[in-house]
This record gives sequence, structure tokens and C-alpha cells, in this order.
Amino acid sequence: MEETDAATKAVWAGEPKQAPHGATVMPVFHGVTYAYEDLDEWRAVALGEQAGHIYSRNTNPGVAVFEGKMAALEGAEAATSFSTGMAAISNTLFTFLSPGDRVVSIRDTYGGTNKLFIEFLPRFGIEAVLCDTGDHEAIEAEVARGCRMLYLETPTNPTLKVLDIARLAKAAQAAGVMVVVDNTFATPINQNPLALGADLVLHSATKFLGGHSDAMGGVVCGPSDLIRQLFHFREINGASLDAMSAFLLTRGVRTLALRVERQNQTAQVVAEYLRAHPKVAAVYYPGLPDHPGHEIARAQMKGFGGVLSFDLAGGFDAMAGMLKRLKLAHRAASLGSVGTLAGPPATTSHVELSAEERARAGIPEGLLRYSVGIESADDLIADLEQALA
Ligand SMILES: *Cc1c(COP(=O)(O)O)cnc(C)c1O
Repeated sequence: MEETDAATKAVWAGEPKQAPHGATVMPVFHGVTYAYEDLDEWRAVALGEQAGHIYSRNTNPGVAVFEGKMAALEGAEAATSFSTGMAAISNTLFTFLSPGDRVVSIRDTYGGTNKLFIEFLPRFGIEAVLCDTGDHEAIEAEVARGCRMLYLETPTNPTLKVLDIARLAKAAQAAGVMVVVDNTFATPINQNPLALGADLVLHSATKFLGGHSDAMGGVVCGPSDLIRQLFHFREINGASLDAMSAFLLTRGVRTLALRVERQNQTAQVVAEYLRAHPKVAAVYYPGLPDHPGHEIARAQMKGFGGVLSFDLAGGFDAMAGMLKRLKLAHRAASLGSVGTLAGPPATTSHVELSAEERARAGIPEGLLRYSVGIESADDLIADLEQALA
């Protein structure tokens, strides 16, 4: 039986045909090492000639279930996982980039990714060229000038800018450039970058994939040859996904389609409510028809996602007052959880940047990011209404 729909894949893909004792849920293998009676078999597994596990920094049965599920959801041949989203990103950059290489990206990547570009890659002689996020022509021109990798994120954190993946992947292909897309905000339910021409798609599994703010992880999906190279680096680098986290993330992914469909709907309703509110200066959500990326998002996404951000007419002080009055939201970093999360980028995703760097990235100090959970939309709006009053 071939799973075709994402909701079905989320439940069934990657699951073992036969778990020990007929268990219907893959147990958590906390054991670090795997024993062999037969030396030839041991050697065959160690050399990768035979399926099996040697040591949990390399592979683990429950981690493999998570990876199989994610590969299926992204329509990829293979996937490899990491201890965090940032580990997925840094391992991808350090696997495929070498001294003298150029990587082209955008100013609005996740704050940690931006730090890799501006602080760490240059130390290894790798130049990161960061273009204005909405400027497709500038990105295409930099790709044509020559680079090793085009690194994209869409929608972006925290102002939800949208990039045309198919258009930029075409430009990259023409120049023989590898395309990597951070798909954390969209999730594979809403967007599949590989189908749009990307070579690799990665996620912070900590967000929507796990979905409950109780486990950290990262994953990269793509063709087997690229994933093999990445896995080889990660085995040695050591940023492996822990067995218990893999179990929690896998459990989260099984309900991913349900949660994301609900979060898409609620975020749309909340965005429309906020846009009509007199105290709100601007709402950033790709599902709004006047959002600059709306048409591209409509073409390349199946839903607009569960994250929006907005700026109050009263600036930082108004935002700080309103944030304090919210009852149905954790005032916390992160996004994509079953519970609504609200926080200003200045203290969450972009805390690594200075105020100056944030201003240069076009992030107003009074911006509030609002990641809707699976609560009722009516309750969330009533809460925003009293907090804004
Ligand atoms: C959170 C996040 C990351 C980093 O993931 P961690 O799991 O926190 O390391 C990377 N990219 C995006 C878009 C994110 O939201």
C-alpha cells in the first residue's frame, strides 16, 4: 500500500513493518551500542554493506523512523537528522562549502543562520553574500556571478517575506549551483521545495514537526548521494538526534497535517482580524491579499502557515503593554507549538543580532511575532481584543 496524501504519510511512512514483539509503536532504543556475535556481520554493518546499527552517534532505530517519515513527507529519496535545527543548518553549510566558496542568501534568514553567514563562515574563508530578501533580480545576479550554494528560507522569520523557489532554483540550476531551502515556517504540509527544484530541504524539527515545544531536532531531506555526504559529516561532527527526542518528534509528525491545517485557518482569521484593528499599524501574513508575496505564496504553497507578525501603531511600548495582557499565549521564543506563542524578535529569533543589525534586516523593534496554536480562533481573537483594548 503506497501512501499518497501527506496526512497518510505523516501517520504511516517510515514506520517499521515489524517492530520488536509486534509493538505498534517503535520503542525507544536508549542503548548506545549494538552487539554482534558474528564478526563478519559486524564488519558488514560497520562498512554499510548490510542494514543494522553499530553506535547511536551514527544510527538508531527510532531516529531512522523519524528520518523515513520526513523523507516521505518532503518527497525525497533520503533524510538525515540532527540534534537541533541549527545543527542541520551548520552541518549542511560545512559539508558542502569549502574555503574560497561563495554562498548566496538573503538578509532575512533565521537569526542563528545569519550569524553563521556573517560571523563563522568568513573565519573559514567562505564568503556569504546576503541580498535584500524580496529582490529576486539581485539574487539571480549574484548566483550568475558564481557561487557554490544558494541558501533560501521562505516564508522568512519574522516578517513572512516570500521567495519564488521555482524561479530562483531555475537560475541556480543554469549556473550549476546547489539550492538549499529552510522549510521550517511552511512545513511539508504547506510547501515542498524539492518539487519546486531545490536540491536539499531542511527543518528545525523543534517547531511544527514536533509541534509540542518538548523536543529539539533538525532534519535535512534530499537525494541519496547528497544525504550520504551530509550523514558522513554529521557522524563525525557528532550533532546526532537523541533517541528520546526522535520518539517525541515522530509522535508529533503523526498529527502534523491535522495541526497545520488548523493553524493555517486560524492564522488567516487572526491576520484578518488584526488588519482591521485601528491600533495595529501593519500585519505580515502571506495569506493577506495585499501581502507583497501573496501571489507567489498562492502558487507555491498549499496553505499560508501558522505564523504571523504585526506592528502596533504605538511602537515598542504599546507592544510591550499588549504582550503583558495576553492570556492565551506563552510569552516565549519558538513557534509551531499546539499552544500559541508570542514574542518580539528582539528577544527571540533575532536576539543574536544587535539593534543595528535588526534595523538593517528591516525588523521594527515593536514587532510582535504570533505563532498560533490549535486553540479555537474565537478564543484567540477575544484574547487579542482584550489585550489591545
Ligand atoms: C528555530 C529555527 C531554526 C533553528 O532551529 P533550532 O531547532 O532552534 O536550532 C532555523 N530556522 C528557522 C526558520 C527557525 O525558525
